[in-house]
Amino acid sequence: MTHPHQLHATRAAWSLAAARTHLNQAVTREQADRRAEARVIAAASAIQAWRPNPGPTSRGGHGDPASRAAVNHLEPEVRDGRLARLAASTTATLTWLAGALRLPDGEHLTALTTALPTLRPTTAGHLWRWLDEADQRIRDTLHLDPDGTGVPGIRCPRCARRQLTAHTTGPRPTWTVTCTPACLCAGPDCPCGTTIRALDVPHVWGPDHPLTTRLTSAA
Ligand SMILES: [Zn+2]
Ligand SMILES: [Zn+2]
Repeated sequence: MTHPHQLHATRAAWSLAAARTHLNQAVTREQADRRAEARVIAAASAIQAWRPNPGPTSRGGHGDPASRAAVNHLEPEVRDGRLARLAASTTATLTWLAGALRLPDGEHLTALTTALPTLRPTTAGHLWRWLDEADQRIRDTLHLDPDGTGVPGIRCPRCARRQLTAHTTGPRPTWTVTCTPACLCAGPDCPCGTTIRALDVPHVWGPDHPLTTRLTSAA
């Protein structure tokens, strides 16, 4: 049986994985832009260095061939931009988590996602919050929509609103359906139909629930 914390954490982990793919592409573009910009600045200083010294005789100074050669051979230094720093800080936290949870070797987010169903619900609950925050930070920065697709026409068995969202980014056994963050489970007597009804946790239906099994891959 999967605890709702584990389902939420799994959903958030797949969403973060997708967001990181977008972020890595944006970092590549950012680095190319910054390198190009640094080369333009370096070229401008090189031209500056070419300018002959004023005066009747030119002896040494910036115009002499030695400094010219030195300037031309310097590849400009390119520091990490805002996106690269965001990517690095996400990776650093994942590396730390992988160590703290003694995850097997490999890509840390993948190892974490695989381990989520085996972790204690409290641990999964903490990870879910962090994964959601990390995902949100990247999506806000890149102006990406939140992960998930609306499920038209179907009412939530608890609040009756038609605002369910399907999360189908990962493989089918990881799919979930959620209601709004404000739709909280009322505990054992809640009409939501989930296997584990955890009080005050936003509703999430796992891959075996009819709300999720009726989804097609097109969702
Ligand atoms: Zn609801
Ligand atoms: Zn419930």
